[in-house]
Amino acid sequence: MFASRVPPVLECSATTAAASRGALKGVIAIYPGSFDPPTNGHLDLIERGSNLFDKLIVAVLRNPEKEAPLFTVEERREMLATLTRPWKNVVIDSFEGLLVDYARRLGAQALLRGIRAISDYEYELQMALMNRKLQPQLETVFMLPAEKYSYLSSRLIKDVFQLGGSVRGLVPPLVEQKLHFKVNGARYPSKPKTGLLGAPGRPRLVKRTGKQA
Ligand code: ADP
Repeated sequence: MFASRVPPVLECSATTAAASRGALKGVIAIYPGSFDPPTNGHLDLIERGSNLFDKLIVAVLRNPEKEAPLFTVEERREMLATLTRPWKNVVIDSFEGLLVDYARRLGAQALLRGIRAISDYEYELQMALMNRKLQPQLETVFMLPAEKYSYLSSRLIKDVFQLGGSVRGLVPPLVEQKLHFKVNGARYPSKPKTGLLGAPGRPRLVKRTGKQA
């Protein structure tokens, strides 16, 4: 029967993932992005990249032209460094200027990018082809996140959070905490607001008492 020829689905247990970590020996890849802030979608991709490449450099783009970021490059680097501690072959860095020049300086052979939906495809295709034109030896590798993260973007997280919506489960607890400090100062949880993405009945404004999870 046709089904019997289909190989069994690979179950990625902790042991097999650890054994296959850095499967592409000697291949250094760069995962560039804004990471403002890092989401569970980014981390999903970082884990996949860490399993595949010998070394994965997560590079925060210093982009003076982009609209004012919520977190500074240093804050984003710090968050990423803490969040990626479990993956020993992941390094956090930042860069400005042309990505291909940065890749050349580091001796990287691949760029890792994520594709969430068809809407990402056109932009990512353009970038990948331009990078190939500039540096033909540099390959762009696209990965898909787990479906549950496939709609997540840093922009959406910021919008939802700033309107008082919950981002629990969509960003790591550390990022949620940093968002509270950045957006609400000492207040936790956030003040309820209304708007397109906001809704009444959100968490009550309470005084922060001690350390939050
Ligand atoms: P964002 O679009 O969230 O601001 P970045 O500029 O930090 O993200 O994106 C860096 C890379 O990570 C891009 O290739 C982007 O497509 C990818 N990426 C971002 N969020 C996700 C996600 N939820 N799943 C998969 N890839 C993602």
